[in-house]
Amino acid sequence: MRREDADEPDDEGLAAELTTRLHRLYGAEQRKVGFPGWSTPLAPELLPFLSHELNNYGDPYVDPMFAWHTKDLERELVETLADLFGAPAGDRWGYVTTGGSEGIMYGLWLGRTLHPNAVFYHSSAAHSSVAKAAALLDRQAVVIPTDDRGEMDYTGLYHALAKHPGRPAVVVASVGTTLTEAVDDVVRVRHALRHAGVREFYIHADAALSGIPLALRGSAAPAFGLGPEAADSVSISGHKFLGAPFPCGVVLTRAGHLSRTSRVAAYTGSPDPTIGSSRSGHAVLVLWHRLRTLGPSGLRRLAEHIRETAAYTERQLAAIGWEAWRSQPMACTVVLKTPPDEVLARWPLATVDGLSHIVCTPGVTRSQIDAFVADLHAFTQLRSSTAAAA
Ligand SMILES: *Cc1c(COP(=O)(O)O)cnc(C)c1O
Repeated sequence: MRREDADEPDDEGLAAELTTRLHRLYGAEQRKVGFPGWSTPLAPELLPFLSHELNNYGDPYVDPMFAWHTKDLERELVETLADLFGAPAGDRWGYVTTGGSEGIMYGLWLGRTLHPNAVFYHSSAAHSSVAKAAALLDRQAVVIPTDDRGEMDYTGLYHALAKHPGRPAVVVASVGTTLTEAVDDVVRVRHALRHAGVREFYIHADAALSGIPLALRGSAAPAFGLGPEAADSVSISGHKFLGAPFPCGVVLTRAGHLSRTSRVAAYTGSPDPTIGSSRSGHAVLVLWHRLRTLGPSGLRRLAEHIRETAAYTERQLAAIGWEAWRSQPMACTVVLKTPPDEVLARWPLATVDGLSHIVCTPGVTRSQIDAFVADLHAFTQLRSSTAAAA
């Protein structure tokens, strides 16, 4: 081969490679029921923006001198979610993150800045990024046990707090745990804090998947938002309930906390209180567009839809005699005894210690559930007939 030929761009080869990759993705999405992310097609009007830089550098409340940003939309998004989470008017702040994990990191950072001597606490069912964020902040968190469905043991929290008299506390409440979607009750966390005599504390609610659907239930759901007697910060993921096609998220807190940080310590020494600094204006655009087009009634319909799919899944699994449950009636996650490897090879499901889950995101349909249950049933029938023949 002549050198010139080797340098020729291979447009056809590249196009074929991308097509193969895309079809592999379509195929995998047919059996995407075991993870909390989903995506819905972007509106065609949004596509041209993807070819242009949109950089929401730093604080969303401070506009840059350049025009290639979406901070005005980011403020609108933060306001909409702050309303949903019950933050007092005029006392809210937040920004669009790279995901739920950055939101957790931000919450813990703010908590530590306000209470430098604090001991950190989270439950054994907390997402792994909670321990990682604590480690990045040079803290080893105290791990609190849970009940058998994954909700924090508040008596256990009380005993752990009582071992550190006089020390402030930073507590992470998991509002929808990763495996079972159990919800730690912030009111009961506060009760344990009060009971243990901890007067200085900070609570972060990690509500990555369940934050919006739960908040839409208003007073019917446990209080975890930013209202009185609730949390100090809340984080959600944007690629879970809201269906952004790339990882992103939102963190919200009280503006008052932020202004206190400048008195406590030099928070960052710059007018940029975010972790990311250069931040995706496209993530803001997509999330803002999603909230704007769904509106409150669309969000409620979506939340209702995922709960109905989860209840359906639980019933269908029960019908074939496969052990399955939900940690609480509002969960869209169905926990089941881990299926055999042959089934997992076709249907990837997150699995921990003999338990797996199906997460009924808005992208999961009843026909996918039917196909999964049929596969599981066929395999168990096959296995019991071969066992009988042996
Ligand atoms: C997904 C998840 C996270 C992490 O969020 P990312 O957006 O993936 O960074 C944290 N906590 C819980 C409970 C989650 O479900």
